[in-house]
Amino acid sequence: MKLTDLPKLNTKREQALNKSGIHTVNDLLYYFPRRYIDKSNIKPIQLLSQSDDAVSVVGKVDAIQVQGYKQKRRLEIRVTDGSGSVKAVWFRGWKYVVSQIKEGDLVSLFGKTKRYGQWLSMAHPDLEVLESKNEVEKYNTLIPIYPSGKHFSKAYITHKLIASWADRALDQMEISEFLPDQLLSEHGFKKIKEALRTMHQSQSEREARETLERFKYEEFFLFELAMARIKYKQRAKSDGPELKPGSLTKSFFNDLLPFELTEGQKSALGEIRDDVATATQMNRLIQGDVGAGKTVVAIGAMLMAVDSGYQATMMAPTEILAEQHFHTLQNFLKPLGLNIRLLVGGQKKSLREDILTDISGGNCNIAVGTHAIIQEQVNFHKLGLAVIDEQHRFGVKQRTEMLQKGSNPHLLVMSATPIPRSLAMTVYSDLDISVIKDLPGGRKPIKTAVRTDREREQIHRFLESTIAEGGRVYVVYPLIEESEALDLKDATMGFEKLKRRFPDIPIGLLHGRMKAEEKESVMSAFAEGRLSMLVATTVVEVGVDVPEANVMIIEHAERFGLSQLHQLRGRIGRGTRQSYCILMPDRKLSESGRFRLKKMVETTDGFEIAEADLKLRGPGDFLGTKQSGLPEFKYGDIVDDRLLLEQAKSDAWNIIKHDPELEQDKHSQLKPVFFDYFKKRAEYFDVG
Ligand code: ADP
Ligand code: MG
Repeated sequence: MKLTDLPKLNTKREQALNKSGIHTVNDLLYYFPRRYIDKSNIKPIQLLSQSDDAVSVVGKVDAIQVQGYKQKRRLEIRVTDGSGSVKAVWFRGWKYVVSQIKEGDLVSLFGKTKRYGQWLSMAHPDLEVLESKNEVEKYNTLIPIYPSGKHFSKAYITHKLIASWADRALDQMEISEFLPDQLLSEHGFKKIKEALRTMHQSQSEREARETLERFKYEEFFLFELAMARIKYKQRAKSDGPELKPGSLTKSFFNDLLPFELTEGQKSALGEIRDDVATATQMNRLIQGDVGAGKTVVAIGAMLMAVDSGYQATMMAPTEILAEQHFHTLQNFLKPLGLNIRLLVGGQKKSLREDILTDISGGNCNIAVGTHAIIQEQVNFHKLGLAVIDEQHRFGVKQRTEMLQKGSNPHLLVMSATPIPRSLAMTVYSDLDISVIKDLPGGRKPIKTAVRTDREREQIHRFLESTIAEGGRVYVVYPLIEESEALDLKDATMGFEKLKRRFPDIPIGLLHGRMKAEEKESVMSAFAEGRLSMLVATTVVEVGVDVPEANVMIIEHAERFGLSQLHQLRGRIGRGTRQSYCILMPDRKLSESGRFRLKKMVETTDGFEIAEADLKLRGPGDFLGTKQSGLPEFKYGDIVDDRLLLEQAKSDAWNIIKHDPELEQDKHSQLKPVFFDYFKKRAEYFDVG
């Protein structure tokens, strides 16, 4: 059946449907109402009260008026049913509303009622134009309201028309089930045709909501099936190096490490050891909040490679961080006599040549660096394991480039941005995940507070006493790309002011415009205690470790995202001293700004914060531009529907494990649907 086989579907209407992404009858069937008006909930207007919260009325538009002047203009329409009249009012976006309606139209309004002068009115209600009285009477209980765009009303496509098309298509079309029977019965889902019918002609909202689960599951399932297949194929083809811990690894953990591993560190290391012991290439993500001690885990993994006669490498997103890792490795591993090299951009040519020769000749056991590591000129002699730190700062592309530096080296990626499990599962479905939940003991939870400008002097006195006791202080300013110059001025001015206020305290300034050597020298002065206070833009955000730093003041705190605030705060609370984070917002606070600050005060749990941030910003923004190409789910929400997603993932994996090409009889319907889905998204799944 083609779209044009549907009754009353002329060219104009076809074009309008196309513009909304409906190209086939199947698309139309999957175009679900965005809500339903429950006829039994429609209230006679006379019975409305000012405290009705979510109420529907249906009536005729009998007056349309634009009131007021200039900015104060508003649209008022009067809607009358047999019992009385109500006003609907729009203060914004009313031009669009006006374009949708005319006097005499039958409309439904859905929203809150409020007394407004003499009138009982509804501000910004949901308004639907219904075709006729008949439209209301035709339905037993629920009237489906489809998502409708501008082009729909221009082509006279009403809700009723869409519903009748769906009806016709369901009557005439053969629609075969593709989900395996077992899954349908396990999850209690309706068969496809019945489920589709319910979506368009439901008798109760609850039934429609329950039925929608099937469709959420369906799209999660196909996605996870694709991910499972990729992972399966990867495992089948790649024979990575077999690594096992030897004398170096043992000596590191038994003799050199000055502390006990946390449970999370131990179990992550155990999982890595199991992974690399087999010829199957490891792809593992370590998730752990800032300060969870991921570096030690990475060192352990790298030593397993060196113990087994391979090289290892570790890549970090910034020079400061790469250098810090380099120093950490050198300090910890000095007695082992390993050759550890640092490769970053801007090194002298002769030094660089020397490092490259060391790497390609195999003299270098461990190479630490920035993305310089994955440049073409770098050739490893025998790379066994690669670590990518702060993985969310890199793209998928860099991950692939890293893998090409050896023949199937094991890959360990680490992320300090706790990603809610649900999201990690979808975005990194092809990775195994270890989570380090616990922080090393002996740390006191950071105390966080919001303070205002008026309390600045009090704060300054607190800084004085903190520094007198040997503490160190970060003062952080936001750096937002669009207003870089301005922000820089903010930080610089703040720095000057503090210097005047504290003439005896050594204060440093750190920002992104400085040369690498300058940054490095300021940072190490702060780390070594030659500076007690560091005024910085967000360059301190990533990974830097100064255990003595115990106070952080964040200026214009409301301009930061939640995850970023959390990352920043993770720079303190790394030693045994009590740490304090002081958030200094501007006076004007948006609702979301207030929420973010409140959340920061309430909790230091990175996963809870990530969860809230994800809710606030949605997955696309949350992961940043680097991770663009996130799967788009039409019905499912990876946060709200996470249980369903996890279910879909395990179901998909079970199938692929036993029947990777979907050749078994019970998958005969699934096979074409899946491969069609997979082909359409070939680019996303990164397959040719
Ligand atoms: P992150 O996970 O943020 O990368 P780091 O690896 O930088 O954290 O570790 C933070 C600090 O905690 C470092 O100074 C590290 O030496 C220390 N550390 C790591 N593991 C432990 C442990 N088990 N006990 C005590 N201190 C630890
Ligand atoms: Mg780290």
